[in-house]
Amino acid sequence: MRVTPDLEGLSPAQLVFLAERAATRGNGRISLTTRGNLQLRGFEEQAAKRFASDAAGQGLGLADPEREARRRLLFMSPLAGIDPACAPDTLLVARELEAALTSPQQSWQAPEKYSVAVDGGGFIPSGALRADLMLRHEDGVWCLYRGAERHASNREALVPLVLERLASSASAANAGRPLHQAPPFKGAIPRLLGAFLPGSFGAVAIMGEISASGFRAIAEAEARVRVTPWRGLVMDRPVAAPDLIAGPSDPRLALTACPGRDGCGQGLASTRQDALFLAPFLKGRRLHVSGCAKGCASRDSSDVTLVAREGGYDLICQGTTRDHPVETGLDVEDVRRRLCRA
Ligand code: SF4
Repeated sequence: MRVTPDLEGLSPAQLVFLAERAATRGNGRISLTTRGNLQLRGFEEQAAKRFASDAAGQGLGLADPEREARRRLLFMSPLAGIDPACAPDTLLVARELEAALTSPQQSWQAPEKYSVAVDGGGFIPSGALRADLMLRHEDGVWCLYRGAERHASNREALVPLVLERLASSASAANAGRPLHQAPPFKGAIPRLLGAFLPGSFGAVAIMGEISASGFRAIAEAEARVRVTPWRGLVMDRPVAAPDLIAGPSDPRLALTACPGRDGCGQGLASTRQDALFLAPFLKGRRLHVSGCAKGCASRDSSDVTLVAREGGYDLICQGTTRDHPVETGLDVEDVRRRLCRA
């Protein structure tokens, strides 16, 4: 079950609803995605069917699936309206775009996996949000990026311009995603951890997942929460909750893992459990543990990558799951010994 929170985040009541559904109908875990969405897994068919309308009743999405699919295209700087250095009209632009996308008058269907970002810059530098269509505030003007193409636009023309580009993308579904042609972001994204701006407190979910009890703890603290595209949370008050890291020295910040065999039919190892076991031995290195060669959790290079196979882990140094292993057939204790030696 995928949930796209409102642009201004999740209320305590919505957190309680999600915690209750994850605990009683799902697998008790809530994943954070790289588009600032939430994913609940493990639902049976009937519970899954009821979820969307119940969630809509809580203000978590629209009951009409076509309008909801178009709403889900959109994400926004998670600090819009919070960070004084983020363009002041970022939230307004995003709301106007949301209203246009979800209008019953729109008849096109959202291209698969497409995304539209409204990036107001500021504490999180402009360009950090990656999407197929990117509205960026640069040097005092809004620009629309599609792949490598840049188009500066006046404020009034912004929303019609995005709609026109989206409608043409929808009718050319095989043209490929502009995101894959966009130049990479070369700046540094500041960590949103602890108190990073007045009234803003950041935390990162360990390997992008929070338990239902973690969500409940945030709700009990009456925090309002935004989910970031970096699998973290921005809250309006400090909250200590299970599965959340709020300090920069926690070695679990260096972990990436897919669900592995505990959440995916193709998984050949308990990836998250093994990653947590290895965390104290990393000495500053980044670790990616993948349940198979597909490498769903990350396409980026890591200092240490483990790929589960029938006969044990492949070990790859300074590479991705697609690179050649330096050793094969390792169990997690073998890997621990090698990490301690290196
Ligand atoms: S990498 Fe393999 S095991 Fe992990 S989530 Fe993807 S398909 Fe499943």
